[in-house]
Amino acid sequence: MNEEQIPQIGPCYACGRAFRVDAGEVVMFTVDPETGLPPGLSVLGTRREPSPEAVARAVEKPVCPDCVARAERFTAESDTPPSWPTWP
Ligand SMILES: [Zn+2]
Repeated sequence: MNEEQIPQIGPCYACGRAFRVDAGEVVMFTVDPETGLPPGLSVLGTRREPSPEAVARAVEKPVCPDCVARAERFTAESDTPPSWPTWP
C-alpha cells in the first residue's frame, strides 16, 4: 500500500474552470474572502498594510496553469500587478 495522494479537482479562482489540483504543484493564491482580493490589496487596487484580521481569515485558492501564464504575461506587458478578479 502506498500513500499516493488522490488528485483533487477544483475550480480555478480566476476563471472558475475545473482543473486538477496537484498538491505541491498548483499555484495557490491568497485571498481575503471578505473582499475577494489578496490581503493588503484594497478594492480600489491600491496596496496597504493588511490588517491582522484580513491575514487571519485569508484562504488559499488554487489557480489553474493557464491563468498563471496569463498573469505572467499580464505582468510582463504592464507595470501594474495583475488584478485577478477584474480581468477583461
Ligand atoms: Zn484559471
